[in-house]
This record gives sequence, structure tokens and C-alpha cells, in this order.
Amino acid sequence: MNLHQIVYYSRNTVGGDTRSMLQGLRDIVSVSQKNNSRDGITGALIFDKTWFLQVLEGDVTAITRTYDRIAKDARHGEVTLMKKEPISERRFADWSMGGTMRSPEMQEIFLNHGIAGAIDPTKLDAGTVVALAQDLKAFEAGRKASVA
Ligand code: FAD
Repeated sequence: MNLHQIVYYSRNTVGGDTRSMLQGLRDIVSVSQKNNSRDGITGALIFDKTWFLQVLEGDVTAITRTYDRIAKDARHGEVTLMKKEPISERRFADWSMGGTMRSPEMQEIFLNHGIAGAIDPTKLDAGTVVALAQDLKAFEAGRKASVA
């Protein structure tokens, strides 16, 4: 396998009130998990009401095909590739696609990565997105463990 990682951002155009937007986002994560498990792709998707930040890892052919499909999706726009590079190991090996909706209790994690207010993806580099996604993954794992 020629292991690569893609990082991109895009503008969220999933419409509707908060409830229907959340359902729309859940639908995206659930289809992503199904397709990515099939295609050997792992990664993370962070979103708020305005932006998506996504990390895709896997064989270069598989993630390129998936990225090309995602880029055509009408539920977002301004899809902007931040990084496409070989990697030696996966950062999200056990996540076919973890979806994290930004919420107030994650504020400190965003602050630790220099994001104090609204996300401005044009000011982020790919390394920051990956590190933020890893910290959010750890946060989600801790939250799950505490309710288990
Ligand atoms: P279906 O889900 O049946 O979709 C068929 C077509 O309808 C596709 O062209 C799709 O884009 C479109 N579509 C489906 N629902 C809607 C809707 N509510 N509004 C508008 N168009 C719609 N897919 C992955 O496989 N892996 C990922 O990691 C991944 N990440 C994504 C991240 C973002 C931010 C977005 C917006 C989408 C992502 N997707 C991902 C979804 C991807 O764009 C395709 O929709 C999906 O891969 C197609 O899956 P499918 O072949 O099962 O077709």
C-alpha cells in the first residue's frame, strides 16, 4: 500500500435549522464510515456551522478517488486541498471516519491550537488540522469512557 494523507477544508452548505443540519451531518458521517471501511480509508472530520476540516488516510489511489467524489458533493463548497503527502503510519487507524461537531466544551482544545474564535481555515496549516483532530479524538474517547 502506498500510504498517503489528504487534508482539506471546505465551506459547509448543509442547510436547514440546527436539527436538520445535524441530521445532514450525521448522514455524511455514516455514509463516510460505510464507504471508508470498504476502501481501507481512515480519518477525521471536524465541522462547525461554517466549515469542514477533514483528514483522509489510506492508499493514495483510494483516497484520491474518495477526495474527488467528496469535492463534487453539493453539501459543501470552496473545497481546498491543504496537503496530499506520503505518511509512514496512520494517525486515525481505528477511525473509518470520526465526526466531531465543534461544541463549547471543546473550546480549550481549539484554543490550544490557536483557534480562539471562529475557525478561519485560510490561517490554518495541515499539521495543525491533524493535531487538532487527534486531540478531539482523544476528547471524544474520554467522553465515551466516562458515560460507559
Ligand atoms: P449516496 O450517499 O447514495 O449519494 C449519491 C449522490 O447523492 C452523491 O453524488 C452525493 O454527493 C449525493 N447526495 C447524497 N445525499 C445528499 C444530500 N443530502 N444533499 C446533496 N447531495 C447528496 N464519502 C466517503 O465515502 N468518505 C468520506 O470520508 C466522505 N467525507 C465527506 C465529507 C464531507 C464534508 C462531505 C460533504 C461529504 C463526504 N462524503 C464522504 C460523501 C461523499 O461526498 C459522497 O456523497 C459519498 O461518498 C457517496 O456515497 P454513495 O456512493 O454511497 O452515494
